[in-house]
Amino acid sequence: MFNSLSDRLTATFKNLRGKGRLTEADIDATVREIRRALLDADVAVPVVRAFTAAVKERALGLEVSQALNPGQQIVKIVNEELVGILGGETRRIRLAKNPPTVIMLAGLQGAGKTTLAGKLSKWLKGQGHSPLLVACDLQRPNAVRQLQVNGERAGVPVYAPHPGVSSEFEAATGDPVAVARQGVAEARARLHDVVIVDTAGRLGVDAELMQQAADIRAAISPDEVLFVIDAMIGQDAVNTALAFNEGVDFTGVVLTKLDGDARGGAALSVASVTGKPVMFASTGEGLGDFELFHPDRMASRILDMGDILTLIEQAEQSWDKDEAARMAKKFADQEDFTLDDFLAQMQQIRNMGSMKKMLMMMPGAANMREQLENFDEREIDRVEAIVRSMTPHERLAPKIINGSRRARIARGSGVHVSEVNGLLERFTQAQKMMKKMASGGGIPGMPGMAG
Ligand code: GDP
Repeated sequence: MFNSLSDRLTATFKNLRGKGRLTEADIDATVREIRRALLDADVAVPVVRAFTAAVKERALGLEVSQALNPGQQIVKIVNEELVGILGGETRRIRLAKNPPTVIMLAGLQGAGKTTLAGKLSKWLKGQGHSPLLVACDLQRPNAVRQLQVNGERAGVPVYAPHPGVSSEFEAATGDPVAVARQGVAEARARLHDVVIVDTAGRLGVDAELMQQAADIRAAISPDEVLFVIDAMIGQDAVNTALAFNEGVDFTGVVLTKLDGDARGGAALSVASVTGKPVMFASTGEGLGDFELFHPDRMASRILDMGDILTLIEQAEQSWDKDEAARMAKKFADQEDFTLDDFLAQMQQIRNMGSMKKMLMMMPGAANMREQLENFDEREIDRVEAIVRSMTPHERLAPKIINGSRRARIARGSGVHVSEVNGLLERFTQAQKMMKKMASGGGIPGMPGMAG
């Protein structure tokens, strides 16, 4: 998502490159392009208007800078304004002084609430909390069961009205307000420090749904009410968000389905029109496809400045600690980075999940999006096959791999010699990068992968 917005904005800024001074006409043209790009990305009109007015005003008032050229100054302004409309600072969950912290989820049917309940509980568990899930969506057939499945996958218990009884029966008899109240009491009794209450949605905003959500809110006095919204619904997002803001007075927003080809306007509008921050982003159907939303990092991603911090965090979460310690020691001892290390790191990268998703967070990704789209994850398999066809001595001392050895390795791994050459070249680059980082104290473990 945000791909086309990102492409459009970076293309606009490219036109400013090399200009020593910006005339008013340059600024007008740039602001016009930004306006079109935002509108095409489905950002709500009032948000676009305020955004472009702020950019224009600041651009006209620019002083000559020693450090940045005018194009860079504009990028900086747009970046700051983007961070602003995304909600400013990263907003974390406010934990209750007296546990349990009560988190209520609200939103339309299909927004991704039940999925989010599983993701959020898993994430909280990973942070050392002991969450309890409460199933109050007694409307949608099977919602209770779906929450139970998500709970099982996350390793988090689920409080449901009638466990094991068919959902039709629950829908007919359950009172969601009572279930919510009992669920929170149950969490307190069983010493869970966080309780996540999943509620029912409807296909559209209606009075009965809103009343039910408001009644649940009143019954359990949640510390956080998260409004869950599907980023794919485009312009409708704003009206839905306004209705829920009025109806349940939510405290934060969760954007789901950011992995789809949504144009991203919802993300850029909802926080701005409701004044409530985006707190989490959901990026897939898996329980791990979920992240804390950082407005500054998202803005950097949109402006193709990369999102190195998220990359590092994801790396830390999936990194094999022993392997990382081994690499750190190698650094400290200034040992050589070998092909075996290269292979071990490839495997680490594979553990981090989709290679593509990761590479998309690198600065400059917008320029190589097409190559990335075509990136074949099986590339890692080929790399593995090639390295495995080398002798232990060759892996330790790649310099000895001459023409005939290359041909043998290619035959052994079923690839063309050019692929062996390519791999060795990339390895040499990675080795150089490792040396540089070892002396500069950078992050260990990011070999220079090419597509
Ligand atoms: P609810 O009605 O609000 O509880 O919505 P669900 O949690 O049942 O989600 C509706 C559908 O959207 C399900 O098929 C989910 O697998 C899917 N879904 C939820 N979150 C995401 C996401 O971030 N990305 C994608 N691609 N699908 C999602």
